[in-house]
Amino acid sequence: MRSTSVVAAIATFFLCGEAAVAQRGMGGTQIKAGEVCPPGTTEVRPRNCMAPEIAAPSILDYRPKSTLVVPAHMVKMAKYPAIDFHGHPQGLLGTAEGLASLGAALDSLNVRMMVSADNMSGERLKSTIASVNASPKMKDRVRILAGISFQNVGPGWAEKAIAQLEADVAAGAVGVGEIGKGLGLSTRKPDGSRLKIDDPALDPIWDACARLRLPVFIHTADPEEFFKPLDYSNERWLEQALFPQRRYPQDRFPSFDELMTERNNLFRRHPKTTFVAAHMGWQANDLAKLGKLLDELPNVYTEIGAVLYDIGRQPHGAHDFFVKYQNRLLFGKDSFQPPEYPYYWRVLETRDEYFDYYRGYHAFWKLYGIDLPDSVLQKVYFRNALKITPRLPREGWPGGR
Ligand SMILES: [Zn+2]
Repeated sequence: MRSTSVVAAIATFFLCGEAAVAQRGMGGTQIKAGEVCPPGTTEVRPRNCMAPEIAAPSILDYRPKSTLVVPAHMVKMAKYPAIDFHGHPQGLLGTAEGLASLGAALDSLNVRMMVSADNMSGERLKSTIASVNASPKMKDRVRILAGISFQNVGPGWAEKAIAQLEADVAAGAVGVGEIGKGLGLSTRKPDGSRLKIDDPALDPIWDACARLRLPVFIHTADPEEFFKPLDYSNERWLEQALFPQRRYPQDRFPSFDELMTERNNLFRRHPKTTFVAAHMGWQANDLAKLGKLLDELPNVYTEIGAVLYDIGRQPHGAHDFFVKYQNRLLFGKDSFQPPEYPYYWRVLETRDEYFDYYRGYHAFWKLYGIDLPDSVLQKVYFRNALKITPRLPREGWPGGR
């Protein structure tokens, strides 16, 4: 009897709760299964939508402070010396003062080497390399990728591009890149048609990269959400609202899938050429798909810059992925903002939970550490870059596996 009355009491309590909601929620809206709540309301009980009693803030102004108390380990310097394979040093390579400030910033982060991915070629490449070589402190800490111009692709283009690439390698370039997203998205052929990433006219240059042992660092497309309708279900709504040039309306641009297909065709057609897909190929939000690509094509590597928000929101899956593909991943940062590097160290090296990302408009969620083993960290930080780039200075890196 007693237990029956407890059940009755609990039932009464919940019924009262429901009754209170129903009362409070006058204006509350009932929806059918599968329907979403009308704008300005949220589902407070199954199929019952309610509006807040006070005006809701915009997503710009809502900045809740986490009340979660958990251990926090800030990591200022990488555990092992790192190679930033996706460097954009913003003009710092051209002068002694610039190089000194770059060196000081890299020292404070334990980034031992920056690979500049600014598409340099010809005289600009030569003068930049001369400037780096004149710096006793930085001459072994900066290396340069050569750019390829995709203007006027047609008869005679490949011979000229290969000759320029050979000259750039003779001047000291260590690889190619970064091949920008313009290839695929916007670059046109002389007849006005879109230059596809897998256009056969480009084949000779990729074969030349294999012959010259140059890794090709390539950025294809952008996050898939940039290609999708800009509605309130779009995960990158805020970013696209802030930066309209990041939207790729589908009446004017190829689709994300089309670009991925062209890119993968390119990788597949040149098995002797080493490709490094920037930004985890924009597939860090679908690691199974990225893993399939890496399984199929042993000539493909990938770089982890600017997708930390995807790595750090799936700590278990990302941990397993990094361990499984530990020979195929390279550290890179992209935008050179020294205060942002420690977020990478923290995600890769710690088990910290639920901490902020550095750029709120990319990701409104928190990050978790993926706690990589030391041997994997070493590969991601420097070993894999050394392995695929024979022209990088080889002295002075930590030994062991
Ligand atoms: Zn870049």
